[in-house]
Amino acid sequence: MVVGAGVGGLCAVRALSESFTHVTLVERDTVTTNGTPRRGVPQGAHVHSLTSRGATVLEEFFPGFIDELSAEGATVAEALGELDIVFFGSRLRRVPLDRVVQVSRPFLEDRLRDKVRALPNITFRHGMEAVGPVAGDGTRVTGVLLSRPGMPESGEVLDADLVVDAMGRAGRGATWLKALGYEKPSETRLGVDVGYASRRFRVAADAVRTDKGVLIGATPARPRGLVLTRQENDLWVLSQYGFGRRNHPPATHEEFLPYAQELLPVGAWETLQDAEPVTDVTAFTYPASVRRDFHRLRELPDGLLSTGDALCSLNPIYGAGMTVAALEAVALRACLADGTRDLPRRFYKAAARASYLPWLFSTMADRALPFVPGTRPVVARALAASFRATMRAASADAHVAAAVWNAVSLTGSPSALARPRVLASVLREWSPRTGSR
Ligand SMILES: Cc1cc2nc3c(=O)[nH]c(=O)nc-3n(C[C@H](O)[C@H](O)[C@H](O)COP(=O)(O)OP(=O)(O)OC[C@H]3O[C@@H](n4cnc5c(N)ncnc54)[C@H](O)[C@@H]3O)c2cc1C
Repeated sequence: MVVGAGVGGLCAVRALSESFTHVTLVERDTVTTNGTPRRGVPQGAHVHSLTSRGATVLEEFFPGFIDELSAEGATVAEALGELDIVFFGSRLRRVPLDRVVQVSRPFLEDRLRDKVRALPNITFRHGMEAVGPVAGDGTRVTGVLLSRPGMPESGEVLDADLVVDAMGRAGRGATWLKALGYEKPSETRLGVDVGYASRRFRVAADAVRTDKGVLIGATPARPRGLVLTRQENDLWVLSQYGFGRRNHPPATHEEFLPYAQELLPVGAWETLQDAEPVTDVTAFTYPASVRRDFHRLRELPDGLLSTGDALCSLNPIYGAGMTVAALEAVALRACLADGTRDLPRRFYKAAARASYLPWLFSTMADRALPFVPGTRPVVARALAASFRATMRAASADAHVAAAVWNAVSLTGSPSALARPRVLASVLREWSPRTGSR
């Protein structure tokens, strides 16, 4: 059984479908297919692009998936050729590298759900909430107590050989462990207090005067940024974000677009002037990146594991959450190929490896920003100096741009940034002046 039908849950179902005779997917929300964000995934109103690594995994799980998305109107943008990306104040050089899938979250999730539904051994139980685990002697989870949301009297126990918690960042799986008498995993948190505000627009193809995607990142001197992307079928989303309550973007119709003008390149600004808004402005607050260290627990019950945001929830401004959830499903499939003995421990080790670099990269980038609390100023200044020099080099040198992009999109190891050819370029940009500005 998988609980939670977000991207993490859907990928986990795909992984389990090869090793179990039957998989049941339990989801609290009822399904809507009208393209609007649902209650259990409020982040669905905001930009949700899929890195090329994530696209490759989904393609492996469902051959032909990306072409089908594209045929249905998804934007597949060539990175970096068709994207205007400014990191740490420098514009990345336009080198052709790989493809990024730009769609709204509901569009992606609907199509992924259809693929999962078409698997032969899956049952969907939508409109059912997982209330708590059932464990006979306490050493093995044997099922979950379910009920209709708000109707505890409708409770029923669904038995399962394995229960996968894909319930998102709230961390119910960790709480379930405690309820069963086990230790809760330790948590590493980085409080970022990022506020988002987003609005979707329709732009006729002949009115577009900008790249398929524009990403202007925050800098140590400016605690805000934005992303504008073409999604499916002439729909665009503008998501603005800011660190710290004072810098959360405005969520009123009147203020939202003017607030973006200072950051948007001219063509993007002009494109939005003629755009037709198709949604209200929606706000969302992301308080902290959280990693739960299940792999460090000495004792774990059989039959229960957590995946996706329940394991590791990354600052969304780096756009890697769905990819990490998909990579954890790949890890799960590989562990299952060796059977179910000691599965939770083997899975948590593999999943920790899958999320290690994305976590390291996103928390280091955050710690380079002086307004993110918890980093000593001297460390923040050193990190900022190195990011600034790297991005300056990436604006001029195709090799550095490729190394940066591959690290960000999880297609290559960040160790490429330490190659002599890249380092030499970065060091040329490094000076006491760049370090102190
Ligand atoms: C503002 C924002 C922007 C983002 N942008 C990007 C991006 O551009 N690219 C990217 O890759 N990632 C992005 N992410 C991250 C991405 O949304 C998640 O990492 C990804 O969805 C994986 O989450 P999940 O499936 O583990 O959990 P979720 O997507 O949160 O799904 C959890 C599911 O569990 C269900 N559920 C919860 N409790 C219960 C229960 N008790 N019983 C039954 N069902 C339950 C919920 O209804 C929901 O369907 C963004 C996140 C935010 C907040």
